[in-house]
Amino acid sequence: SQQNEALFNELSGLDKKHIIHPSTNPKLHSEIGPKLIFESGEGIYLKDMGGKTYIDGVSMLWNVNVGHGVKELAEAAYEQMTKAAYTTTFYGYSNEASVRLAEKIAKVTPGDLNAIFYTSGGSESNDTAFKLSRSYWDIKGKKDKKLIISLRRGYHGVTIATQRATGIDAYREFSGSGDPNIVNAKPHMTECELGDKSHPEYEGSIRSIIEREGADKVAAVIVEPIQGAGGVHVPPEGYLKAVRALCDEFDIHMIADEIICGFGRTGKMFGVDHWDVVPDFICAAKGMTSGYVQLGGVIMREEIRDTFFTYDGMLPHGFTYSGHPTACAVGLKNLEILERDGLIENAAAMGEELQKGLNYLEDKYSFVGNTRSRGLLAGFDLMEDPAAGKPFETIKAAATVVEEAYKRELLIRPFDFTPGMNIVAIAPPLIVQKDEVEKI
Ligand code: PLP
Repeated sequence: SQQNEALFNELSGLDKKHIIHPSTNPKLHSEIGPKLIFESGEGIYLKDMGGKTYIDGVSMLWNVNVGHGVKELAEAAYEQMTKAAYTTTFYGYSNEASVRLAEKIAKVTPGDLNAIFYTSGGSESNDTAFKLSRSYWDIKGKKDKKLIISLRRGYHGVTIATQRATGIDAYREFSGSGDPNIVNAKPHMTECELGDKSHPEYEGSIRSIIEREGADKVAAVIVEPIQGAGGVHVPPEGYLKAVRALCDEFDIHMIADEIICGFGRTGKMFGVDHWDVVPDFICAAKGMTSGYVQLGGVIMREEIRDTFFTYDGMLPHGFTYSGHPTACAVGLKNLEILERDGLIENAAAMGEELQKGLNYLEDKYSFVGNTRSRGLLAGFDLMEDPAAGKPFETIKAAATVVEEAYKRELLIRPFDFTPGMNIVAIAPPLIVQKDEVEKI
């Protein structure tokens, strides 16, 4: 309507003037303004101010796991807000929602990952895991164990430490800063990490970095069970178990960045559950509340918790919103919905349907290759000749496909941050149904 158009134009003008957007081209944005201004959402659908309805094919930022417009989550927030919207967990204070959620998370995490340090998001969680790992080694008298090893194509956030752990150059190099105690392994989830010294990329593997730097300098290795923002990469069989074994061999922490994978995205509660691996830390955020409010956490094994329990002084770490009661109340309800409605099982089943669709694309189009998925975390490559491994050199194929999908009212995501890379990601909410998968 004309009224909507006038409102859109007003907001667009104000947006251009007053907001710098994340992961957006600022020059272009200052010229053209926002592409969409969302108005409302229901299930897997989002409506924009222009009245068009889009399928949210990536759950916005892979986080809206239960889908949009779930009133029960709003009610959980309302109930908590009208009791006490915010109380702090500093100074030994506590609140029921954060305790109940911590107990519930202890039940759904693998092994003895039974204690949590709450944060407000993913970067904060990874940053906190680095600090907790390093201070654990301090407590143990191993004060030189400071190095964090991460992987190429890993995405771990944008704080000064996590940007350095991120193995995507644009993020890693931005603003020229970063924690120098973080090194990126060069190879990306290849067999050399499994100990294959004949692999051409062995030099620069996690193992070779540990051997080069000395295990007494290394605090932790951080990996995403399935890499997301690096272009959806499922590790080779045995990979995560090998990383676990490497960490055990050298007395190093294994941090699983489950910020995308956690809470059902891959068809199991956590990504590591696919390979029966118990890391020392799980970092969570996103799906922990399905994005309804900001919440994250670092979940750790009992031995790490107990080591902190020997620390007899003030622990100088924490965020104003650590254990935020409203966020935790939403997190608790979100987990209840995931389990009650069988959404993780649905993600597994619908993931198979989605993979069938990707297989169809791969059969039908010569330029579609490497289709891959676990549950509802899926991706594929666009290449001039996938069989020969020949990338498109000049064509922005992923951006083109995503733009064409957009014209057909489907929101999906391109990854093309290095020359020749053309990856498309699909990750709809876990409530998606078979006919909707077919539509996607
Ligand atoms: N780790 C992973 C695997 C992520 O995908 C993200 C965000 O996309 C982050 C960390 C950072 O989380 P946040 O943006 O909440 O700080």
